[in-house]
Amino acid sequence: MNPNLVFPSTLEELELLRDADLRANAYIASLSERRVFPDAAALDRLDLLDNPLPEEGHSRIEGLRLLDEVGSPATVVSNGPNYFGFVVGAALPEAIAAERLMSAWDQNAGLPLGSPIAARLEQIAAQWILEILDLPRGSAVGFGTSATACTISCLAAARRAILGREGWNFDANGLNGAPEIYLIISEAAHITVKKAIRLLGFGMKRITIVPVDALGRMDLTRLPPLTSRSILCLQAGEVNTGEFDTFSDVLPLANAAGAWVHVDGAFGLWARTSSRRGLTEGIELADSWTVDAHKWLNTPYDCAMAICKRPEDLASAMNSDAAYSTASADAQKNLTLEFSRRARGIPVWAVLRSLGRRGVAAMVEQHCAFAMRIADGLRNAGYEVLNRVVLNQVLVRGNNDDETRTVIARAQASGLVWFGSTVWDGRPAFRISVSSWRTEEQHVDQLLQLLVRLKGPPRL
Ligand SMILES: *Cc1c(COP(=O)(O)O)cnc(C)c1O
Repeated sequence: MNPNLVFPSTLEELELLRDADLRANAYIASLSERRVFPDAAALDRLDLLDNPLPEEGHSRIEGLRLLDEVGSPATVVSNGPNYFGFVVGAALPEAIAAERLMSAWDQNAGLPLGSPIAARLEQIAAQWILEILDLPRGSAVGFGTSATACTISCLAAARRAILGREGWNFDANGLNGAPEIYLIISEAAHITVKKAIRLLGFGMKRITIVPVDALGRMDLTRLPPLTSRSILCLQAGEVNTGEFDTFSDVLPLANAAGAWVHVDGAFGLWARTSSRRGLTEGIELADSWTVDAHKWLNTPYDCAMAICKRPEDLASAMNSDAAYSTASADAQKNLTLEFSRRARGIPVWAVLRSLGRRGVAAMVEQHCAFAMRIADGLRNAGYEVLNRVVLNQVLVRGNNDDETRTVIARAQASGLVWFGSTVWDGRPAFRISVSSWRTEEQHVDQLLQLLVRLKGPPRL
């Protein structure tokens, strides 16, 4: 045997995995005591990892120790209760546990032949997702890596289907000489929707970007005429304000025109499970939707869904059947960008099974209530809250730009909490997002106390 290729014995393998479990558990147990963003010393220590590619292999257990001792202190504790940045969510233990077992299984979940259990669970998770989000039953659900990837899948499916209706065979002829498609987004569309548009070759100057109203929703009075060659991208949950486009006003028009409507609901679609459902009214009339699980459903990364009302549209666009690998239209490799893939639907199944419809609704409800509480507290402390707080996002600024910047910098440097900055109406602001299942009332109150402390004297 090649001395450089020494496989562990079963005993060593189990010892290594047990050590990983112990270290992972110790990390989880310490989440609320950890700095939310690593300090400079922890970041400096990352240099210890910066070694040349080893010629000879090193001890596995020692590698894990290095990873934990140098790596864990340099993590952003977004899996803790005090992280209010972006809309990242934390990871629920049942999802982490399911992923651990999945790692041991090491399934290639592209098609049922690669993993019957993964195929079955993802079929079940797909049905549950359509039920809990109340989207048309029978839609295709592809479990992809991210909302970005899923938006690419959905828009590719949309274009191919529209061109097919126009008598153009996209697979054979591509885009050169194809009938033009009119893609429409709002000014407030997420950057990853624009990325999908660029990647797919729509051309940012060839699409229509519709201005938004005072609340950040697509201004429907400025909408160009819709036709059967339009793809209209709407949004459920804007990253700064949490606002929703007014689906019930525009969807019937779009349907009548034969346009394809795609909804980016990366986090906002989960509002549909709760008393905020009204924000999503009419959304079920769209043709495709993207929604993340790794944000508000609190699964680990990477976990998102591309949902398409007419399953054949997604399945034909994403098909990757080969002579050696044919599968049904609902095999995940035929619904996602991936061919070999992990079964991202399994953590979704695990969370939906453990929380149930009520549990998911309660989590969403709780986060929205916390956001309102934060907004009230900040207003009382003399901050300016810039949005209506319809969901879990609070957009804030201080008396002036300097104060806003100082508060952000000091809060981030404190290590006690973390939230991010943004620009709103051309001026700095900060964004507090509540999406971690670990966040409780006490954490919200600690955040408020810190922000009150950091606030300068009130505006006169
Ligand atoms: C986060 C986000 C995305 C991108 O999602 P990823 O899963 O990170 O690719 C798209 N749209 C909105 C509104 C988002 O909040």
